[in-house]
Amino acid sequence: MALVAIVGRPNVGKSTLFNRFTQTRQAIVDDTAGTTRDRQYGHCEWNGRNFSVVDTGGWVENSDDVFEEEIRKQVQIAIEESDVVLFMVDVKTGLSDLDSEVAGVLRQAKKPVLLVSNKTDTFDMQYASAEFYSLGLGDPISISAANGSGTGDLLDLVVEKLKNIPDQETEDEIPRFAVVGRPNVGKSSIINAFVGEDRHIVTDIAGTTRDSIYTRYDKFGFDFYLVDTAGIRKKSKVEENLEFYSVMRSIRAIENSDVCVLMLDATRGIESQDMNIVSLVLKNQKGLVVVVNKWDLIEDKSNTVMKNYQDAIRSKLAPFTDFPIIFTSAINKQRIMKVLESAKDVYLHRKFHVTTGKLNAEMLPLIESYPPPSNKGKYIKIKYCTQLAGPIVPTFIFFANLPQYVKEPYKRFLENKIREKWNFCGTPINIFIRQK
Ligand code: GDP
Ligand code: GDP
Repeated sequence: MALVAIVGRPNVGKSTLFNRFTQTRQAIVDDTAGTTRDRQYGHCEWNGRNFSVVDTGGWVENSDDVFEEEIRKQVQIAIEESDVVLFMVDVKTGLSDLDSEVAGVLRQAKKPVLLVSNKTDTFDMQYASAEFYSLGLGDPISISAANGSGTGDLLDLVVEKLKNIPDQETEDEIPRFAVVGRPNVGKSSIINAFVGEDRHIVTDIAGTTRDSIYTRYDKFGFDFYLVDTAGIRKKSKVEENLEFYSVMRSIRAIENSDVCVLMLDATRGIESQDMNIVSLVLKNQKGLVVVVNKWDLIEDKSNTVMKNYQDAIRSKLAPFTDFPIIFTSAINKQRIMKVLESAKDVYLHRKFHVTTGKLNAEMLPLIESYPPPSNKGKYIKIKYCTQLAGPIVPTFIFFANLPQYVKEPYKRFLENKIREKWNFCGTPINIFIRQK
C-alpha cells in the first residue's frame, strides 16, 4: 500500500488534516479500541484508491521549540519511507524559519512533495499563500483542514501522484513474512539466521518506481519472501532509539506482509514501544507470531517463567490472544526453524476456509444453547452463518433478524467458539452480523 506522510512544524494543522483523511474509514474498519497510535497512522480511501497516512507530528513534543535537528531527521525518514510527502505550512502565521529549514531538506528529496498552505479558511486568504512560493516547492495548495475546503482537490493531487504505485505488489502464492520490532531486539540477527550469509540468492522482484522490498528465499524446505526491514536493505543509518523511526520503518514492511514476526527482547518484556508496532500489525489485520528473543540471557527458563511471559504478552494484546509465542536465541540459532514453521502455519490458517455446511452444523447448536441476549424485550435470532471466500482475513457472516442488537461481547463469544473448533491460530478473524 502506498504511504503518504504529513510533515511540518507544530500547530500548522497536521493532525486536523490527518483526521479528515482517515476518520471516515477508521470509524468503519477500526474495531480495536485503545490502539495508541491511531492518531498518527491510518488508512484513507479516495476515489477507490487506498493508501496509508502518517502524521509525523504525533511523535514529537508539541512545543514551539522543537529541535530543528530533530525535525530535520524526522523529515528525512518521512521522505525515505513514504511515496508522497505533504509539507504543511500555516497561512495565518506565515512563513517561519523552521518552514524554510524543512523546505531545504524537501527540495533535495527524490519523492513527490506537495506544499499545503493550511488555514486558508476563506477565499480571500488564498492570496496570502503566495508568499510560500519562495520555498521553491511549487504552487502552494490552499486548504482549510478545519472546514474541509480544498481538501478534495488535495486528495485528487495525492492520488494522481500515486498512480504509478501498485496497490498490491506480489500476486503469487508464496508467504510474505516481515520481521518487526524495535531496535536491538535481534531482527538482523534472526534474519541472518534465516538466510545465512549467502545474500546473493536474493532475487529482486522487478520494482516499478521504487526499490523492491521483497527478497525470496528457498531454504530449509521453506519458500518465502522476507519483506524488507531495516535489516536487509541498507538505508541511511539513524542510531536514535526513537519510536518514530522504528514505527516509520515498520509500516511498509507490515503492510506488505502476510505474517509479521514480532520480536521482543526477553530481558525487557513487552514495552510501550513494542505496543506501537503491535498496533500497526493489528490495525492491518496481519498474521502474528511473537518471538521472545535473547532467551539465552534468561537464567530461570522454567515453565513457570515461560508461562508468565506468555500471559503478560497475551494480556497486552487482548482481546487478540490466539497466536504463537516462541522463545528463541537468534545468536545461538535456537528454535529459529520453529519461527519459520509457525509463520508458515499462520499463513495457512489465514487461508483456511470452513465450508458452510460444517460451520452451521457446529455453530447453530451452540447459538441455540447460548443465544444473543434479547434487547428491549426483542428476541434475537441468528439463523445462518457462512465464511466469505474473498477476503484475505478469515471473515464470517452471521445472519440475524436484528443484527444491530448483537453486541461486541457476543461477537467475541462467536469468535472464541470458531477458534476452539478450527485452527485459526495467529490470524485475526472478522465477525459481521447482517440482516436476514
Ligand atoms: P499539528 O500540531 O500540526 O498537528 O496541528 P493541529 O492539527 O493540532 O492544529 C493546531 C491548531 O490549529 C488547532 O487549534 C486546530 O484547531 C487549528 N487548525 C487546524 N487546521 C485549521 C484550519 O484549517 N483553520 C484554522 N483556522 N485553524 C486550524
Ligand atoms: P536489531 O536492531 O533488531 O536488528 O537487532 P540486532 O540483530 O542488531 O541485535 C542487537 C544486539 O543484540 C546485537 O548486539 C546482537 O548480537 C544481540 N542479540 C541478538 N539476538 C540475540 C540473542 O538471541 N541473544 C543475545 N544474547 N543477544 C542477541
